[in-house]
Amino acid sequence: MADRPVAGLAHIGVAVRDLAAAEGAYAALGAQLLGREDVPSEGVRVSFLTLGGVRIELLEPLDPDAPAGVARFLRERGAGVHHLAFAAEDLEEALASLGAAGIAPGGGGARPGAEGRTVAFLHPKDTGGVLLELCEVKP
Ligand code: ZN
Repeated sequence: MADRPVAGLAHIGVAVRDLAAAEGAYAALGAQLLGREDVPSEGVRVSFLTLGGVRIELLEPLDPDAPAGVARFLRERGAGVHHLAFAAEDLEEALASLGAAGIAPGGGGARPGAEGRTVAFLHPKDTGGVLLELCEVKP
């Protein structure tokens, strides 16, 4: 059993309208592009970059007119920080700790996410205003 439900910051998710343009801006700062991936279950195309030891996940909606998800976020709040992702060695255990605190994950709980990881999201209403992602990272 892990000492703590969360092991550290996994990445910062940033909603963008134009993935290539955003990649260019981070590249100009020396970011390294780690890869691109479509995540149809979340309705997004993502780029993972690393900059100064920080991982950045850029998220562009696959369909800008989609009713929910990043497309809706962009319409309602504009481009910007979308979520903070924390690594959990044991996602089920982390969700159990949250459940004991009366916090339930949104969207039906744990599900497949980018990079083949299992992820869960905590609604901003439960976390002081920022969407939190927990992604399972095996030790
Ligand atoms: Zn993420």
